[in-house]
Amino acid sequence: MSRVFNFSAGPATLPEAVLREAQTDLVDYKGAGMSIMEMSHRGKEYDAVHNEAIASLKRLMGLGDDYAIIFQTGGASSQFAFVPMNLLGPGQTADYVHAGAWGGKAIKEAKNVGAVNVAADTSKEKPSRMPKDSELKLTPGAAYLHVTTNETIEGSQMKSIPNVDAPLVADMSSDILSRPMDFTKFGLIYAGAQKNIGPSGVTLVAIRKDLAERGSDKIPVILRYKTHVEQNSLYNTPPCFGIYMIALVTRWIDAQGGLAALAKINVEKAALLYSAIDGSGGYYRGTAAVEDRSDMNVTYRLPSEELEAKFIAEAARHGLKGLKGHRSVGGIRASIYNAFPRAGVETLVAFMREFQSKNG
Ligand SMILES: *Cc1c(COP(=O)(O)O)cnc(C)c1O
Repeated sequence: MSRVFNFSAGPATLPEAVLREAQTDLVDYKGAGMSIMEMSHRGKEYDAVHNEAIASLKRLMGLGDDYAIIFQTGGASSQFAFVPMNLLGPGQTADYVHAGAWGGKAIKEAKNVGAVNVAADTSKEKPSRMPKDSELKLTPGAAYLHVTTNETIEGSQMKSIPNVDAPLVADMSSDILSRPMDFTKFGLIYAGAQKNIGPSGVTLVAIRKDLAERGSDKIPVILRYKTHVEQNSLYNTPPCFGIYMIALVTRWIDAQGGLAALAKINVEKAALLYSAIDGSGGYYRGTAAVEDRSDMNVTYRLPSEELEAKFIAEAARHGLKGLKGHRSVGGIRASIYNAFPRAGVETLVAFMREFQSKNG
């Protein structure tokens, strides 16, 4: 059996060591005689896994007791609704940054709930980029400012945290735990797990406890952050297997040396690919502004759509899978999250040189 280099944007490649450990545990979890998928979410085995995942995430993010980590379902997309439902009160306005497709979806959903001010819109710009702090048209007393730290489709990434008074809410689905960051600058962080920290089906939310209290009692109980904080994500049956996988991934992150060590590797992997793009004499063209280039999703074009289709097909035959850009933008997208191995990037770079020399 051989694994391919999987550049998929999400669900994305997981550390092989984590998959193997999950395989070992699958049929009989540590002598329990059953798997994690089959046991009570209120039993002692699962309880240990659940609380390990929470404690490890808090530690990796440097969050104290004023924050809660909760696990939900419905993906990051459900958070597009959860956030305004809980944090945007009547008469208030929420500020949103629109720098790409995911930020746009968050805005659309928030408008269904309350008043939204688009503080900056770079979503139609090419190359794609993140707005600077000085460009933000903020609402005084805004309920919060929502940002997308990494626009997965456009391949642009925020390199610094905006300095604002309002609580910061961030969709970090595609770069969570990929670099050290002052996570305490945020009031709420959410991420679908399937890019950097686990399988699909579980959504991570880190929330400052005072913000969780904001939700009105008119919101259905299941849709209140408060409920999930108070019940430690056990109000309803949580996505147990996904949370178990997150616990294994956090152990793997520790084994890599933590976020600083991961960031170093991530920057090196991305730099290899960007220098291949920049050194191709214009054959490959990056689609994001150089200063905002994502270390997670490397997006680029070839001279024609025909060549792009040929590139994707030939790459797949070389064991380089999932390189097709998002259907809304086309082109090539190499997603190289935490678990994506450096050897895969080196193989892609060699393939790009060979492809160019044959099709240049
Ligand atoms: C993938 C992605 C989403 C959507 O996640 P789902 O879990 O499919 O809802 C939202 N935001 C960003 C930044 C993403 O990369």
